[in-house]
Amino acid sequence: MPDESTIANNLEAVNQRIANACDRAGRNPEDVLLLAVSKTKPAEVVQLAVDAGHTAFGENRVQEGVAKVPVLPSHLDWHLIGPLQRNKIRKALPLFGTIHTVESVENATQIDRIAAEEGLFPRVFLQVNIAGEATKHGFTEDTLRREMETLLGLDRLQIEGLMIIPPFTPEPEDARQHFVQLRELRQQLQDEFGVWFEELSMGMSHDFEVAIEEGATIVRVGTAIFGKRA
Ligand SMILES: *Cc1c(COP(=O)(O)O)cnc(C)c1O
Repeated sequence: MPDESTIANNLEAVNQRIANACDRAGRNPEDVLLLAVSKTKPAEVVQLAVDAGHTAFGENRVQEGVAKVPVLPSHLDWHLIGPLQRNKIRKALPLFGTIHTVESVENATQIDRIAAEEGLFPRVFLQVNIAGEATKHGFTEDTLRREMETLLGLDRLQIEGLMIIPPFTPEPEDARQHFVQLRELRQQLQDEFGVWFEELSMGMSHDFEVAIEEGATIVRVGTAIFGKRA
């Protein structure tokens, strides 16, 4: 298990890199949320990040949220960043205030219905399969345009913006085109549908600086904070 100073130092280093990327892009670091991705890490390790002053955490499996959220301080802000299957929605909504992975109209409709039954208004992101990869979840740009009116009619969902997991490229610079693509898609949707999508959830440990230069408002960083996963 890492010690407290390791996690605190890692958080400080990542925050410094975020500040530098914001500087290069002429952005305010307060407009970028660092989501610390704690998947596979035990609650004791998450607590070290809490002790260092961090409050926003991401998990990719509902079951891990079930185990960790209740045993950690109640003021933390939990985000689900993995797929949300139908049979897990009721369990997930009270644990995670933000869902980054709404991947289809069917998925969105189910979340909306259960949110209504539970009296909740979850913040959500629409996940975009930006490169049309067969193995990835999410809306294609075309389906998103076609289904936007339906999505906007789901009044329990607070649609905050768009999210991507771009194809992995060893060179972070090669992901830039996908970050640009997502930002441009947001602009087109805003123009076409008269909506305002504040957030772009994009960028992970190896490419978050490039993502920030292209407008990311939430970066999802695991390894650079908590170390490698088993
Ligand atoms: C695991 C994960 C991350 C964090 O990845 P790192 O490379 O460890 O920073 C970000 N986003 C999603 C969707 C993930 O599943």
